[in-house]
Amino acid sequence: MKDMRAGTVLPMPFDAHVHLRQGRILKHVLPATARDFGRAIVMPNTKPAVWNADTVRAYREEILECAPHGFEPLMTIYLTQQTTPEVILAAGKAGAVAAKFYPKHGTTNSDDGLVPEFFLAQSDWFAALEEAGMVMCIHAEHPKHIKARREHEFLKLFVDSRLPERFPKLRFVIEHVSTAYGLQVVSESDNVAGSVTAHHLVLTDDDVMGNHLNLCMPVAKSARDRSALREAVFQGNSPRIFFGSDSAPHQLSAKSKPEGSYGIYTAPIALKLLAQEFANASRSNNLSSFVSSYGPAYYRLPEEKRVSEVVAEPFHVLDPRSEPALMEPVRDPSAEVDEDAKTDPPPPGDRLTDPIIPFYAGRAIHWSVRYDR
Ligand SMILES: [Zn+2]
Repeated sequence: MKDMRAGTVLPMPFDAHVHLRQGRILKHVLPATARDFGRAIVMPNTKPAVWNADTVRAYREEILECAPHGFEPLMTIYLTQQTTPEVILAAGKAGAVAAKFYPKHGTTNSDDGLVPEFFLAQSDWFAALEEAGMVMCIHAEHPKHIKARREHEFLKLFVDSRLPERFPKLRFVIEHVSTAYGLQVVSESDNVAGSVTAHHLVLTDDDVMGNHLNLCMPVAKSARDRSALREAVFQGNSPRIFFGSDSAPHQLSAKSKPEGSYGIYTAPIALKLLAQEFANASRSNNLSSFVSSYGPAYYRLPEEKRVSEVVAEPFHVLDPRSEPALMEPVRDPSAEVDEDAKTDPPPPGDRLTDPIIPFYAGRAIHWSVRYDR
């Protein structure tokens, strides 16, 4: 029987920014990313950080050991006080495709991060990245300022540094662009791109008030900034604006603390949500370039031969708090140093108190991904 469901076929999507964590959490979240994305740029802010050739190799091994569906992790290194041009070149030879700047104490596991002014002065590093053909991924926030201003204040320094002009062969990515000003900075240089998340396309600052599950870095901005992001993404005119989920799983216990963990777990739903939002904007034709083509082209990756299909069918996002039987119990990997915790089954309370709650939990999205092709 002919299938009448309306669908859009696209090259297997690419996630330009994902946090896969380690240990049990890695095993828990990796299938969600691997189902919907063929390749992903994997962030290095693990504990300890992935920062050199050896740690790149070890982390890639750990991911591949539990990677389903032919998923290809693309590795990055964390720029730290220990970084040297030699470390960068060796990491590139070990397969790292990018380096990542984190502002010190700016976000999850950023204790090893750097003061922005220090980072922007490291000309030797940028020359080495150019030589290695690696991409420079930037968490563009200055932690000295209030959260709503951090992106703007960092990017002012970035523009003043004239790095894109001084290193014309180095490709920069402003990660998780959240403001109209961020889009403007991307538009001004051919070697600066911007990744945009799914959640920054739907949230504003109002949605974060009183809902710690929507806390993320950069924080969601004004309706005006969100409109600018939606317009740039849905119009699809710039090949330097592409999708990076910044899917960042945290357990509920960590999210619920007074100064809760920043990060939204979007891996299970990001592609469906994007399909819905592009359709609502009557721009379904542009979904493929945003999520499948522009990112790999900027990263100079081989063409993706596999395909996916998104279809106009509802997808119900499970809320582990109401469906405990469906939830794999997970714990902080740092807890695994305790041998007893490794061998004993997790206490039943884990199932109810420590889930990772996905974005849109308990809600329906109007688009799904077909897995039966
Ligand atoms: Zn991130």
